[in-house]
Amino acid sequence: MSGTLYVVATPIGNLEDMTYRAVRILQEADLIAAEDTRHSRKLLNHYGINTALISYHEHNEESRSSQLLDKLHAGQSIALISDAGTPCIADPGYRLVSRCRQAGLAVAAVPGASALVAALSISGLPTDAFSFIGFLPAKTHGRRQLLESIKMAKQTIVCYETPHRLIASLTDIADVCGGDRLIAVARELTKRHEELFSGTVIEAQNHFSQSGVKGELVLLLAPAPDCQPEGTVRDALLRLREETDLNWKEIVKQVAKEFSLPGSDVYKESLELR
Ligand code: SAM
Repeated sequence: MSGTLYVVATPIGNLEDMTYRAVRILQEADLIAAEDTRHSRKLLNHYGINTALISYHEHNEESRSSQLLDKLHAGQSIALISDAGTPCIADPGYRLVSRCRQAGLAVAAVPGASALVAALSISGLPTDAFSFIGFLPAKTHGRRQLLESIKMAKQTIVCYETPHRLIASLTDIADVCGGDRLIAVARELTKRHEELFSGTVIEAQNHFSQSGVKGELVLLLAPAPDCQPEGTVRDALLRLREETDLNWKEIVKQVAKEFSLPGSDVYKESLELR
């Protein structure tokens, strides 16, 4: 009989956010694969767990996965944990899980805390649909490119950010998505200095420039507002003819884009006005 890989969530701050099942699975496992074994040993001591630890982090994922697969095939049960929260979510683990699945080995979730879900649940932003995009790119160029691709998204965008890049990221968000877009910043969730800032991007810039930024952060950007163009297609065609030097082809293209209509429909309407 092969063993099972358990993907076990651990707290993101408050040590009481550990499930009974997580403690039992970690106690009963033959081995715990952890990102940072010294960090995890302290956490496990808190719950009286003495199971052996082995390191599994982004620099040894490939080689370590092969060893762990051998142990699972030999019947051992292994629990995977990360430094905090749910493994595989902006943390190592995906490669191991994927290889276990390909090999037909059992993989079981032991769910619990994850910063993205905790932040979303208290953000006050729409939760019916959201996209999690991991960490924002570190450099402005990459960040702006990514923001361009999501600025019209109709769902809440959730991402992780480091405190020393927050102000630069807020500046890029203001420039690309608009300073009046609603944003929430969840800081130090479940810890003593927990804070949920909510307001416009400009208000967030002011708030965090004044208070300084410390601790762990989740950024949540509100969906793009519905911008229904005002007036009719005919009004828009006439307005562009009066107010710009655009030719009819360009006017039709622009109005079609504004109203999200096929160019041929707008073209037909424009014929009456020419
Ligand atoms: N696997 C983890 C999870 O499930 O949330 C995330 C790991 S990722 C390497 C760490 C990032 O998660 C931090 O840089 C921060 O953006 C976010 N994070 C973790 N704990 C947090 C907390 N208590 N409050 C706010 N954000 C947190």
